[in-house]
Amino acid sequence: MADVVESILKAKQIAPTAMRLLVLEFLLEQKTAVTLTNLEKDFGPADRITLYRTIKTFEKKGLVHAIKDGTIAKYALCDVDCNEDGHTDTHVHFWCTGCKKTFCLPKLKIPKVEMPSGFTIQDISLNAHGLCNSCNPDATMQ
Ligand SMILES: [Zn+2]
Ligand SMILES: [Zn+2]
Ligand SMILES: [Zn+2]
Repeated sequence: MADVVESILKAKQIAPTAMRLLVLEFLLEQKTAVTLTNLEKDFGPADRITLYRTIKTFEKKGLVHAIKDGTIAKYALCDVDCNEDGHTDTHVHFWCTGCKKTFCLPKLKIPKVEMPSGFTIQDISLNAHGLCNSCNPDATMQ
């Protein structure tokens, strides 16, 4: 496991410090996006600043993306193609009104949109709200 975590950091050109390895390991275990508060709960509030910096470094290097779904900022791992030059995995996010968790839907890519001349997009997001397959009483188990 440790080797895998380290090689992921190296592939994104991130120097593998002890904290970065631990944070990435934690992220790999998550099925839904995490907030800084989730991380603090796991690592302890003493590491708050370091955790914040670690996440910001990960974001800049294309390892995680920030999700702005109208609630507080959440972070989730990117796919392999994201790097320092930009995020290429822009996809739909789903916020469950039942368990309040945010899910990445990487198969649902946000298509390139044509902007009127003179407009530049810095950030685009598409968020769906509803019930996830654990909270939906009609969902059939897969
Ligand atoms: Zn990304
Ligand atoms: Zn749910
Ligand atoms: Zn996502």
